[in-house]
Amino acid sequence: MGFEENIRRVVPYVPGEQPKDKNLIKLNTNENPYPPSPRTAEAIRQFDPGLNRLYPDPAAGKLIRAIAGRYGLEDSEVFAGVGSDDVLAMCFLTFFNGGKPVLFPDITYSFYDVWAELFRIPYEQVPLDEHFRIRPEDYDRACGGIVIANPNAPTGELLPVEEIERIVGAHPECVVIVDEAYIDFGGESALPLIRKYKNLIVVQTFSKSRNLAGMRIGYAMADASLIRWLNDVKYSFNSYTMSRLAIEAGAACIRDEAYFAECCRRIMETREKSADMLRALGFRLTDSASNFLFATHPDVQAKDIFDYLRGRGIYVRWWDKPRIRNYLRITVGTDREMEVLGEALAEFLRRIATALR
Ligand code: PMP
Repeated sequence: MGFEENIRRVVPYVPGEQPKDKNLIKLNTNENPYPPSPRTAEAIRQFDPGLNRLYPDPAAGKLIRAIAGRYGLEDSEVFAGVGSDDVLAMCFLTFFNGGKPVLFPDITYSFYDVWAELFRIPYEQVPLDEHFRIRPEDYDRACGGIVIANPNAPTGELLPVEEIERIVGAHPECVVIVDEAYIDFGGESALPLIRKYKNLIVVQTFSKSRNLAGMRIGYAMADASLIRWLNDVKYSFNSYTMSRLAIEAGAACIRDEAYFAECCRRIMETREKSADMLRALGFRLTDSASNFLFATHPDVQAKDIFDYLRGRGIYVRWWDKPRIRNYLRITVGTDREMEVLGEALAEFLRRIATALR
């Protein structure tokens, strides 16, 4: 018997490409097209690198206080981690410890099944309907937990908060995670429900609406008892998760409310313009309430469009997966980036039309 038999074998999550060339148009991993806020940039400049000799605050107190202050919560109701991926992984490990399957949609953030496999959590993927929407009644059954990305990814479809409440209220026996990575682009957050439902945890991130994907900051908000259990697991895994710089930058960032609101407003405006542009080119789109569009074209394969765009230095996201193989997920960039995308798509469709003639 070799050591290989004792290895934990996993099929890892595959993140979108992070190409080095800065001249590319990068619409593949839903980053914010605008730079971090002026206060964030100032906090990063002012940061004394000599402080890195010392460990950071394991509780990330300054960041937790800033987040709690922004959302009108107690510090005891907030947890922070290294991006929401870290926060979500800790949630899976902490809250999904039973024998019944955890439920999430068949088409959703593709990290959920990876964590379930990694932690050996039983799970079931609940099919979205034919319009790629979540049917809340499909979750009316015994389970060990529920995970809903709202808006969902990569569809962008938003579930009204009343529907989220219905799901949470129907499942007092398990924890419901609502992953609100994209909620600031026009959705209504389930956050006010955490005082009413002790089994609800709302997860958000600085990576999208707060322009800080590179700093790796995510957070969860829930009743203090859930946060305590989450912290117990975190301190059993790695106590110093947030770097000193991330704590400073994050705390400064959350105070720049006007900049945050303005970037979100612009992205939503560009999203609607870009959706019109894509529809005019013959694409069909889901109804996205996030910072990306999910598009399919009746006459051309998504993979062919993906390859063509890539050749022109425009990166979007495509998955070789059932049901969504003919879709592209396109991050909403600046107006200019979306114009360049539109020109490239128009050129591609012209070539296809000529070739068919
Ligand atoms: N949830 C969803 C639905 C996402 O799309 C992403 C981005 N990949 C994340 C969570 C994780 O983002 P981050 O770790 O940067 O906070």
